[in-house]
Amino acid sequence: MPEECIFCRIVKGELPCCPVYQDDFIFAFLDINPISQGHCIVVPKDHYNLFHQCPPDLVAKLAGKLGPIAQAVVESVDAQGYNILNNNGRPAGQLVEHLHFHIIPRRNDDGVFNRWPAGKYPPGFMEQLADKISHKIKTF
Ligand code: 5GP
Ligand code: ZN
Repeated sequence: MPEECIFCRIVKGELPCCPVYQDDFIFAFLDINPISQGHCIVVPKDHYNLFHQCPPDLVAKLAGKLGPIAQAVVESVDAQGYNILNNNGRPAGQLVEHLHFHIIPRRNDDGVFNRWPAGKYPPGFMEQLADKISHKIKTF
């Protein structure tokens, strides 16, 4: 519920944070437990849980700010790269159920996310799966 949501409470100023950007729709602040120095959280001010539940015009507003915020963060901590990460659902690592993007500054050989468990599909499976997905996509 938004009343109990940590990020809604941060947006409303009920909980402290170190803000880096805000406008009418978006709020960005430093993550309290950073994966690397400068790790930022970017949220819509309105409460949505999952990415696909957020209206596309708000997604566009949010996405438009990620680049400038990421660039400022990376320059501020003298990083060489960054990840933009959005976890959806508990199995994907989402702990705070208010849509958010992580901006994580990266350095050469920093060891962050150094496991990428890539697999392989059995023959023919990939084509069938792509077909199934493509028929389910609903756009606005
Ligand atoms: P998730 O795992 O849901 O994608 O990420 C939630 C993030 O929010 C975590 O990286 C966590 O450190 C951060 N976080 C949780 N509570 C607070 C808080 O009260 N203040 C700030 N600044 N960050 C928080
Ligand atoms: Zn919320």
